[in-house]
Formats: sequence, C-alpha cells, structure tokens
Amino acid sequence: MGIQEPVGEKSLKASFLGLLALFALTGAVVAAGAYGSYRFFADRMVAGVHDELLGISRMKAERIGEQVADRRGSAFIFATRPAVWRLLSGADAEREMPRVRMAIDKTVTGQGYLRIVVVDAALRIVVSSSSEPLGPEELSAVRQAIATREPVRLELHRNAEGEVEHGFIHPVFANGDEHDVVVGAAYLERNAEARLLPLLEGLPRPSPSMETIMARRDGDEVLFLSHLRFRPEAPPLTFRQPVGTGTLAENALVRNEFGLIEGRDYRGEEVIGAAEPVPGTPWVIVTKVDRAEVERPARVLALIVLALAAVLILLLAVIFQLSWRRRNLELRAERAAEAERFALALRTSIDGYMMVDRTGRLVAGNAALSRMTGYAEEELIHLHVSDLDANETPAEAEAHMVRILAQGSDRFETRFRRKDGMRIDVEISVSITGDYFHAFIHDVSERRAAEKALRESEARFRQMFERNTAVLLLIEPTSGAIVDANAAASLFYGYGVDRLRTMTIDRINTLPPEEIAAERANAVRHERNFFTFPHRLADGETRTVEVRSSPVNVGGRILLFSIVQDVTERKQAEEELARSNAELEQFAYAASHDLRQPLRMISSYLGLLQRKLGDSLDEDGRTYMAFAIDGAKRMDALILGLLDYSRVGRVETVTEIVDLGLAVDEAIKDLELMIEETGTDLPVADDLPSVAGHPLELTRLFLNLIGNAIKYRAKGRPPRVDVGWRDGGAEWVVWVRDNGIGIAPRDHDRAFGIFQRLVGRKEVEGNGIGLAICRKIVEHHGGRIWIESTPGEGSTFLVALPKPKESGT
Ligand code: ADP
Repeated sequence: MGIQEPVGEKSLKASFLGLLALFALTGAVVAAGAYGSYRFFADRMVAGVHDELLGISRMKAERIGEQVADRRGSAFIFATRPAVWRLLSGADAEREMPRVRMAIDKTVTGQGYLRIVVVDAALRIVVSSSSEPLGPEELSAVRQAIATREPVRLELHRNAEGEVEHGFIHPVFANGDEHDVVVGAAYLERNAEARLLPLLEGLPRPSPSMETIMARRDGDEVLFLSHLRFRPEAPPLTFRQPVGTGTLAENALVRNEFGLIEGRDYRGEEVIGAAEPVPGTPWVIVTKVDRAEVERPARVLALIVLALAAVLILLLAVIFQLSWRRRNLELRAERAAEAERFALALRTSIDGYMMVDRTGRLVAGNAALSRMTGYAEEELIHLHVSDLDANETPAEAEAHMVRILAQGSDRFETRFRRKDGMRIDVEISVSITGDYFHAFIHDVSERRAAEKALRESEARFRQMFERNTAVLLLIEPTSGAIVDANAAASLFYGYGVDRLRTMTIDRINTLPPEEIAAERANAVRHERNFFTFPHRLADGETRTVEVRSSPVNVGGRILLFSIVQDVTERKQAEEELARSNAELEQFAYAASHDLRQPLRMISSYLGLLQRKLGDSLDEDGRTYMAFAIDGAKRMDALILGLLDYSRVGRVETVTEIVDLGLAVDEAIKDLELMIEETGTDLPVADDLPSVAGHPLELTRLFLNLIGNAIKYRAKGRPPRVDVGWRDGGAEWVVWVRDNGIGIAPRDHDRAFGIFQRLVGRKEVEGNGIGLAICRKIVEHHGGRIWIESTPGEGSTFLVALPKPKESGT
C-alpha cells in the first residue's frame, strides 16, 4: 500500500534540538560554577599569600632595622674605646696605636667590616684599616658627625668597585665622655652585599615570581637597592624609576601606603604585596608576588573542572547521539514494521479500505474492497468515489465532506454499486490525514437482510400473538405483572389490552397471591405447566380456566407465556357426567343386588319343582324344566358379572405400588388347573414393571386376559400365551399375547362392551363381561387397553398404565 506518514520526524528533531539546548545550558552552568569556584579559591589564595607577604616584609624590615641599629652600636662601642679616645686625645701614641690597631683588626675581621678609619678633629686620618683615603661623601659625613657631635649614617651607596657599602660614623669624645670635647671620629664601613642583601633577597619558599625589594626615594626618583629578580642585568642601587609610575614601592615611599597593597611593580606587572618601612632609614621593603602566580592553582583547578565538565558533556553528547541514532533506527524499523502490519491488516481485512485524494479519486484499495465491489485491485485505483457511491446525492456527499473536514472523521451508511451493477449496503468510516481520505468500508448487506428477516418474523409472531383466538398472556413471573395480552384476552376478561398491561395476574386469579406466585415459580422451573385456576372477569363473574404456562426468554428476560382456556362449561358437564355415572353405577349395583333375591327364589322353586315332578314329566317337560333352570343360572351368572363390574372402581383411591409380576403370578395361580388341562405354554417376561394401583383389580385384569387367551385357543395347535412389556415413555405397556383364534378388526372395540360376545355360547362358555371389567380396571388406573390381532393367528391385548410418580422414570 505504501502509505507512510513522516509522523514524529519533526518532533524527533525538536527533541534533539531541545536536548542540545539542555547541553548548552548545562555547559553554561558548569562554566559559571567553575568561574565562581575559581574566584573563590583565588580570593582565598590571595588572602593566604597576603599574610605570608606581610610576615616576610615585617620580618625583613625588622631584621634590617636591627642590623642598622647593630652597626650603630658597633660604631658607638668602637668610638668609645679608651684606646681610641686616648689616641686622639694626644696620649702616648706609641702605646695606644697598637691597641687601636688591634681593635680595628678585631672589628673588621670579627664583624665583617670593610674598613675602619679613625680621624682626628681636623679630619686627618690617624689610623685606617686600609690605605684608601676617605672619599668626599665620607669626608662630609665625618665632618657632620664632628660638627653635630652625633653619629651619622652614610647611606647605602656603591663604591668604586661597584660594591654596595654602608657607612657609620661616630664622633670620638675626649675621655669617652659625650659631654667632653670632640677629638675625632671613627668611620666604619660595611659591605652590604655580604649581610644585608642576602637577608633582603632570601625567601622562605621557592616561588617563580616572589621577591623582596628595598627602595628609597632619591629626589624625583625611586632608587632600588636590591638585586631585582626581573632586572638581573642591573646591579644593586643602579635601577631607578621616576616618581609617577605608581609602583608599589613608590606608593609606599610617596604616599606612605604600608601593609597589604595591590598594584603594579616596577615591571608594570599585576602583583600583590606587603610594604614595610625599615625603621631608622628612608627605605621601604616591599615583598610582592605576581597575582598570576597566586591565582594559578585556582585557575588550574577551574580549568581542570572545566575540562572535566567539557569531557563529561562531550561524553554525554556522544552517548546521547549514539542512543538517539539507535532510537532513530529502531523507530524507523518500528515504523516500517507498522506499515507492513498495516498493509498486511489491510490485505487480510474483511473490511474494505480505500485511500482517496481530495478530488475524490481512489489512490489505493485493498483486496476486501475488490471482493466487495467486484473491481480488480488495479481497476480500483482508476475509480472515482462517485463510481462506487450508489446512493448519495451530490448534496449528501458534500455534507459528508464538510463534516469530515470539520471533525477529521465521519461515519455513515450508504449503498455501493458493484461493477456488476448490484447494490450493497455499506457502513463507512472516513478519516482524513494530510491530503488523503482513508475510508474503511464494512459490508452490512447481510446484516440489513437479517434485520429485515427479523422484522418480518417479529411481525409474524406479533400477529400470531395478537390475532390468536386463544386467550394469550405474557406474565412477568416474579411480580405477576401482565406484560402483554392479546385481543382475545381483552375480549375474554372484558378489559382493554392497555388496561391489562397495567395489571397483575393477582387481580384476575382469585387464589391467594402467594399460591399463584408459587405456581408461577413452578412454571419457570418447568416443574408444572398446566394449571386450573379461577379467573375473575371485569364484570365480576368467575370462570374456571385451564392455563398452559411455559417460560420464554425475551431478550434475556424470562417471561411466562400462558394460554388460557375457559373450561367452565366443560368442567360443569364433566361434573354432571360423573354424577350421573355414579348414579348409574349405584343403580346398576342396587338393581343387580336386588335382582338376585327373586332370582334365587325362582331357582330354588324350580329345583323343588323338578324334584317333586321328577319322573312324572315327559321328555318335553323335562327339557323345558332344564331350560328354565339353566336360564335362571345364566341370569344369576350375568347378574354376578354385573355386580363384579359395578364393584370395580368402588374401592378407595389408588395409592399402592403394585408389582405387575406379582399380579400376573397371582392370576396364574388361580388358573393353574386350566393351564394344566390345556397344556398351555405360558412364558412371563422378567422384571415386569410396577404401577400405582389396586392389587386385587390388577390381578383380576391379568386373570381375565390370560383366561381369555387360553379359552379362545385355536383348535389343532397347542396354546401358547406370553406376557411381556415395554417402556412407552410416560407409561408402561404390558401385553398378553396368544396364538388363539384372533379377533377381526371390526370387533376390537365391541369386545370390550358389556355382555358382548364374539363367539357363540355353544362354542365357548362366557357371559361377555370379562373384557368390560378389564377396560374399567384399566381406565380406573388412568390407562388404556386395546387389541392387536390377526384373525386365525392370535391376539395381543395391550395395556398401557401410567408410570408411578415415585419411580421417577
Ligand atoms: P366371554 O369370554 O365371557 O365371552 P369376554 O368379555 O371375556 O366375554 O370376551 C368377549 C368376547 O371377546 C369373547 O366372547 C370372545 O369372542 C372375544 N375374545 C375375548 N378374548 C379373546 C381372545 N383371547 N381370543 C379371541 N377372542 C377373544
């Protein structure tokens, strides 16, 4: 079919872009986090290094200050030595000179002085550790010391060799007393490079950018004492920078900014530092380190974090990309499988399918549609919907189109014209996707036909119900509501059908409602379906009705369908008949009973007469007498037979279960003599059934039937009588079959009449009442008796008796 929609492609792309955005956001957050932590750590590091720098600067300033103070002290000690002031005071030079020289040597070697010069008040060198004369600066400092009587410190300077020197001058007082006259001065010169510079330049830990510098202001310049780490070519005290460059040292010197400071150093580099003045000197000490160095670990950390995050994000992106691609492939495979399934479903569907473009032209159709319409599949795609649509007017088609476009789908019924012109009823569901309509077509012709058949059958049955002349009711078994009634019912009860439909059967049946409800329940359970009820009509008259009720299932609801028959007249007639029958029987019994009295009289007197007249009677007379006596005897026999007959059924109600086998045995016992005399073969079936009845009457029944079977035997063949039985459904059928003379079909009914004999009295003795009694016994037990016979071959007397209820069969 090849119908595939790029469903989900766009949303997939959108979700991909969304995820990318998410990644970017995550990246930004990570970057911000990294920067934040970088700032935090950098600040912490700067704070940490601040303390260190301050410590270093303070320590160095203190130590250098101490050194300066020490030098001053040394100068004082030297200047106040007795040998020195004695020498200068003009004492015995011969004696003092060696002492002074010794003191000079000790001080130079012991305390690391370069040179010690002792001058007198006229600035003449009295004694010196070297031959070198005092330079002009040194001289002026000495002069100043002598003039002011105060110690003078000669600022750090470079000497002719380029070494950094420090000079201390102390005036020498006469008698060593500072209140006495000045007799000269001692000049002690020290090499700063040996002690001061190492102290200055040494650092507590290795660092690529940390250094301590010492500077002082020199006019409009800042003069740097120390070896500069980043100006290694400039010897100490040679590097100068003009004031106004705003270096840390300058700030400290010019603006007295001490303690922790941040700014630029002599290179113009961003640094962090600590400045301290060196006590007693114009120098400042600045220990500083590049900000870059301090912050580097934090930066490295941040970079590592960033790099890790980047790697992580990259990794996630790769994983996502891979899984996305897999999902994409899976999706594509799924979609292909789905399309395949869809195509298969369409191919195998029993519903027709067609795809129609917006102009109404078919672009696809499945096998079912082809079967339905009779067009081959390739023919279908040349069709226009109007070729198929047999029912819709253009207006209707338009209306469907509008609905489909508005709701996206529609469902309606129409008719299709097949290729062969035949019409079929179809139900169509149409939906629209993109530029195509998808229509599923369900053939409902059969359903329509079935519906029509159902409608017709419904109408038929309705008529059968409504127009039936029998009184018909449809009753709800639980409530007894009359759900429906027909016109005959309306006529019978005298209520309109509508009225009947609002009534319950209790309004009509005059029995107690509980009793009626119980009977309805019996009917539902199929336990009883025949009832005799008193029904009251609209005019108040009560009629006896026989009702046949059977449960019917009407749409899942059990109702009782009842046929009501008015049997009032019949019942009355039956009662009448029963009464007259009883009266007749009573009469017959009384008559035959009363008739025997005079008959006995006639018989006795006839006997007396015969004895008295005896031989006096002639031949004719004796014959007449014999006839009279025989007539009386026969009459008695007849009357006895009649009495017997009328006694049947006078016994109480039939309740006992009687084994017919035993009844047959009893009968055979009574007939023993006859059986023996005639040599009758008499097989009796085993397991004769039992019935509810009167044992004596049933014995009598078999006595008569078996007796007759032997009595009416055929000449020339030995008699054979067999007793058998079969299951006749609701009744047992027992028979007595003989091979006797048989009975002509026209006599089959007559044989059961009272005093009816089929053979002459001469041939066989009998009074024609035996079978009448048999029939009465059988009917009294609710059964039937009939004859099957082929004259000349034998007769079968069949007795059908209802099966006893208790036996359950
Ligand atoms: P009866 O035997 O006293 O004549 P029944 O009423 O017993 O009276 O029988 C009526 C008549 O039916 C008999 O007269 C006889 O003709 C005929 N009949 C009865 N039983 C048989 C039989 N087994 N075979 C042939 N005929 C029979």
